[in-house]
Amino acid sequence: MCGIVGFTGKKNAAPFLLEGLEKLEYRGYDSAGIAVLAENGIKTKKTVERIKTLKEKTDNGAQLCGTIGIGHTRWATHGAPSEENAHPHLSPDAKFAVVHNGIIENYLELKEELAAEGVSFKSETDTEVVPCLLEKYYEGDFFEAVTKAVARLEGSYALGIICTDCPDTLIAVRKFSPLIIGVSKEANYIASDVTAIVSQTKEVIYIDDGEIAVLSPEGVSFFDKDKNPLQKQISVVNWDINAAEKGGYEHFMMKEIMEQPRSVEQTVESRIHGREIIFENLKLDEGKLRHIDKIDIVACGSAYHAGVVGKYVFEELLRIPTLVDLASEYRYRNPLANSKTLTVIISQSGETADTLAALKEAKRKGAHTLSIVNVVGSSIAKESDDVIYTWAGPEIAVATTKGYSTQVAVLYLFAIWAARILKSSDEEYIESLFDSLRELPENIQKILDNSEDIKALAEKCGDPHSLFFIGRNIDYAVSLEASLKLKEISYIHSEAYAAGELKHGTISLIEEGRTVIALACYEKLFDKLLSNIKEVKARGANIIACVTEGHSAVLSEANDVIFIPQTHPLLTASLEVIPFQLYSYYVSLFKGCDIDKPRNLAKSVTVE
Ligand code: GLU
Repeated sequence: MCGIVGFTGKKNAAPFLLEGLEKLEYRGYDSAGIAVLAENGIKTKKTVERIKTLKEKTDNGAQLCGTIGIGHTRWATHGAPSEENAHPHLSPDAKFAVVHNGIIENYLELKEELAAEGVSFKSETDTEVVPCLLEKYYEGDFFEAVTKAVARLEGSYALGIICTDCPDTLIAVRKFSPLIIGVSKEANYIASDVTAIVSQTKEVIYIDDGEIAVLSPEGVSFFDKDKNPLQKQISVVNWDINAAEKGGYEHFMMKEIMEQPRSVEQTVESRIHGREIIFENLKLDEGKLRHIDKIDIVACGSAYHAGVVGKYVFEELLRIPTLVDLASEYRYRNPLANSKTLTVIISQSGETADTLAALKEAKRKGAHTLSIVNVVGSSIAKESDDVIYTWAGPEIAVATTKGYSTQVAVLYLFAIWAARILKSSDEEYIESLFDSLRELPENIQKILDNSEDIKALAEKCGDPHSLFFIGRNIDYAVSLEASLKLKEISYIHSEAYAAGELKHGTISLIEEGRTVIALACYEKLFDKLLSNIKEVKARGANIIACVTEGHSAVLSEANDVIFIPQTHPLLTASLEVIPFQLYSYYVSLFKGCDIDKPRNLAKSVTVE
């Protein structure tokens, strides 16, 4: 998620740590901290403000004397942004300091185990189990303790670790979270990306998942998880700072599109224990859930579109009437809600003004409020009775991609969790949905692997003046999001229509050469959609169809066809949206639009 830096050399570490963290600020963060090994132990400084504050607090690092240290910018996942929760975290005996990016998915089990052994925790983070495990396994060999501790971790992590007994040695480990090693004659470094170290060295070594790096001022050695030594190549970085920030992609939007398999996996898997789904600290227990007779989903923009998916899924699986509403409408229409209503509030930033007001309105009416947000400790998260976080990590491009995908993933998870409790749907059906949900990251990756095909399609389609998206049921929900994505960043006029509505008006706009994008992945209504395709084709439309693999009947009707992998029918939303994120991106790229910052739009809409 956010940022890590580390230094071991001959000079003071703190000035580099602070400068490196400043370079990583673009990744987004809510708090930060550094730890330096001084003569009399590890010294830490933390802040919930900007890195600038950390610089002021330490006189640009001069107050923290020591030639080895680690630094961190945090994007909270477990525990609110606060100095206690900010990294680095120390072991109870203060021998180890740890910075961590990612999520330790089995931290609850580990915490319980350590607590039973008498460990008391100082923070609410998942991370703190790591220094505690290091203390538990330490018998005088730092490296050995790290390998033993890491073997206990599940989830994603980039770790930087220092130990008072080894005043030169910095150990780094990575699994599914970014981390690189920088090498030079004067010092060796760790960082989440090259922006943090490029001013010091251009020589980097890429560390792979599961590998361990042991750094000293003299050199770096690498090991696999079984402690076998590895030979690694040094690469010379020729990226400029701008490209480095975007992980080599031209735009944050593309970087974030590509991060989706990991973001969805993190959001889903961290809630799965065996075959059970567990949402931590949820007040909505079985008794309360059984009491619910209506669900209101309230949100704005893409989060609203995620909510439309939620409506179809909830009604199908839970058989509870579900209404989805725009927050700006809901807040002013004296909504019908009471203690039997569950109001699901969706917002990436957790600060959307209309959504926050709608949440307050629902609470006033006595509804149980559950929010789905990406930013820990945000206003919406704090105000709601319950919160389920999407673990997408910071999203920088204005047009959401991984934010939307993780919101939809949480809605699926929640629906399965509730359906199992309520026994509201056939057990086999729910279990097959559960299994397919876990395959989503792999299937999203398959679509991303074919992004060149979508690029070619976007180039071929050029810059249509106006186009239509049509779909039914979940396909319709995705059409809304696909159409908005295209409008937001390419400025092309587009409309999303429920395909069955065409005859009631819109079909008058279909003429020779008009592009119609037909989403036809929802198995049950494929034939109906095929008829709609024929109707618009007969009126001269140029058809791009999106179907699941095997539906070749569409090939004779459409000008172009996008195939997505087979999945459970209710889950198609998570796959079907991906080609259209890519399509919108490439159309805008060919038009020369400002993709990450489209005109007139803001990332977090904190005004009405
Ligand atoms: N899960 C950790 C926490 O909440 C690390 C978050 C991060 O990657 O910044 O403290």
